Amino acid sequence: MKTIEPSGVIMKGICGLQTDKCVANQSPAAITAVWAPPGRTQVDVCAACLQEMIRTGEWEIQGARIEKRADLTVYAPNGKLQLAVEVKQPPSIKSVTPLQWATQVYRNLLVHAGIPNTPYFLLAVFPDSFYLWKKTDSTSIQPPDYNVQVTDLIHKYQPKYPGFESQIMAWLQDLIKSKFSTEEKISLPWLFVSGLYEAIQNGSIVK
Ligand SMILES: [Zn+2]
Repeated sequence: MKTIEPSGVIMKGICGLQTDKCVANQSPAAITAVWAPPGRTQVDVCAACLQEMIRTGEWEIQGARIEKRADLTVYAPNGKLQLAVEVKQPPSIKSVTPLQWATQVYRNLLVHAGIPNTPYFLLAVFPDSFYLWKKTDSTSIQPPDYNVQVTDLIHKYQPKYPGFESQIMAWLQDLIKSKFSTEEKISLPWLFVSGLYEAIQNGSIVK
């Protein structure tokens, strides 16, 4: 494992790594410079490749605590991180309402697990509950902005994709490519009202 130092500088350019997760390999997008061995060589890297290098254990960030990644992250075409998705099983305890539980999960992920504070956060709870937060300036963590049952939406992906997470992944793939009928769009008003649909159009997903 190589220990790297992030410069913190964000610029526009082509990624120097271009892993298969790269979001800055075709045209210039947001990249950052890091210093890596040997001899503090500068490497320009996009956020998705940086995340991938850390995930695979090839790189570690100097002095950083081990960061828990979100299950899925979605970037806009400009390389900006827009959405973090966490996929969970429903709670076994019944002493809190699902909404209270979801809010607790989100708080714990943000405060303790180092989940990136993205403009949008989606908690997808098996088998068909979505909780969506849109980031505000408020420092306290509020209940989700949208809490929707997505039974029909998930149902569509069940025959082809065996696991819940892969169903969410397949839906996100369709979403960023806007592969929906008008009927489907009408059935998902929260996607449009929240601005999420627009934020991730033609974006890319990192697992
Ligand atoms: Zn890259």
